[in-house]
Amino acid sequence: MVTTVRTPSQSGLARTFDSLNPATSEPIGTFPILGEDEVNDIVARAREAATWWSALGWKERQLRLMAWKSYLIRYIGRLSELVHAETGKPLADAQLEILLAVVHIDWAAKNARKVLSPHKVRSGIVALNQASSVEYQPLGVVGVIGPWNYPVFTPVGSIVYALAAGNTVVFKPSEFTPAVGGWLVSSFAEVVPDYPVLQLVTGYGETGSFLARSAVDKIAFTGSTATAKKVMAACAENLTPMVAECGGKDALIVSADANLDAAADGAVWGALSNAGQTCIGVERIYVAQDIYHTFLEKLAERVSALRPGDDREADYGPMTMPSQVDVIEQHIADAMACGGRAVVGGLGSIRRPYVGPVILADVPETSNAVTDETFGPTMTVTPVADLAEGVRLANASRYGLGGSIFAKNKKAGLQAARALHSGMTSINSVISYASVPALPFGGSGASGFGRIHGADGLREFSKAKSITRQRMKPMVNLTSFSRTDKDMKKILSLATMMHGKRYK
Ligand code: NAD
Repeated sequence: MVTTVRTPSQSGLARTFDSLNPATSEPIGTFPILGEDEVNDIVARAREAATWWSALGWKERQLRLMAWKSYLIRYIGRLSELVHAETGKPLADAQLEILLAVVHIDWAAKNARKVLSPHKVRSGIVALNQASSVEYQPLGVVGVIGPWNYPVFTPVGSIVYALAAGNTVVFKPSEFTPAVGGWLVSSFAEVVPDYPVLQLVTGYGETGSFLARSAVDKIAFTGSTATAKKVMAACAENLTPMVAECGGKDALIVSADANLDAAADGAVWGALSNAGQTCIGVERIYVAQDIYHTFLEKLAERVSALRPGDDREADYGPMTMPSQVDVIEQHIADAMACGGRAVVGGLGSIRRPYVGPVILADVPETSNAVTDETFGPTMTVTPVADLAEGVRLANASRYGLGGSIFAKNKKAGLQAARALHSGMTSINSVISYASVPALPFGGSGASGFGRIHGADGLREFSKAKSITRQRMKPMVNLTSFSRTDKDMKKILSLATMMHGKRYK
């Protein structure tokens, strides 16, 4: 599989950029920075392809998506090496994200028909003479703008649900992971060579803004909250709808009755895997006062055994985006300046491009180590009276993406999970909902809006179409100028009988 991409016009390749391995700075590939006209041309081709793809029908699309799924699994070795090289994450983590993407492709392919195809609804007494149905039709062309942290799992979570719903897709991967993006698009073209159903546009943010301003029918954006606001402004120009999957500051809350080993294990993975560069990663930990010290000890013991690196034994890799290290450094410094203390690591953990694990305690809730997305291998640990106080502090964030509760008491765990202001919560594990394809994925507040994954994800890339078919003459024709006062009286007395009952 090639790691460079072909442009619409090779002669017009005036501007390019290189993708680099974040651990070694070795170049991985050179990619074109596409301009507005080129993006518009690609979107126009996607529109032509959309006619063919939507007309294929559920079964034929399912077959092709299943073929893509199978291709990804058969070539998981090559793709995971590329993900490892371009993001720096350990090979096994790269394999894991591809496996999860495959699970979503499988689900979307198998369930699109059931969720989106026409189904009957009851017409109700006023429209008894009508047969009513609703179906979900494709939007046309969907623009997917992706981040670099999970360059397979994250964009596929939009791409495959959009494709399964009958749309074609123009995909703009992050400028940090264009090779992985190119690989995904080329692999799809291997199994669907007929038309450009999934196409690539590469470049920096400006190329993404051209896509948002183009004639696409929807933008599926995944990235930072700050960029989402710009994309939304660009989409507003044409009233193009968007789904925004943005950042988070997820909390993990540990109840006094929790299994502390399981909670510590989950917290460490949630906070440190992928060097903490996970939108649904654990950034804040709230622990019931009674077990706070025991939990902190268990956490510190586990964290101290982990180290970043580029070798096969490393637990996590380098920071993929060099500028993120400045944010991490600033958050650690702010936490310490506000009276926090580093239980493991500290400012000395920063050895660019690596950041060693950091546990911060006694950090005031006002520090930006608590309020802002750090996106690094750090965590704050704070004692709370109980689950309820943990939930209250967790909810004080402007973000609302995911979260976890560790509690033995089922009812209390569920109650806390429901009370968390977030789109997703896992009880007694971390980030498990991302691996359940039937569950919608997305957040609220500064974490964005709309949902990918599951039936909601399929509907996100469709438009509802309602149809009524008159199957007999109405008893009283209300929508005709031949309607009489007597007809109106009849219907009003029926409505009073049905709906006029007094409620206390
Ligand atoms: P980013 O916002 O810097 O970039 C995301 C994408 O937007 C890139 O492809 C970029 O080129 C493009 N872009 C930049 N400016 C643009 C503009 N003006 N118009 C259109 N496109 C533009 O984010 P990132 O650094 O790539 O990713 C990290 C962020 O993504 C974190 O905040 C993380 O939490 C978030 N994220 C969220 C989810 C989720 O599902 N909620 C998943 C993964 C990552």
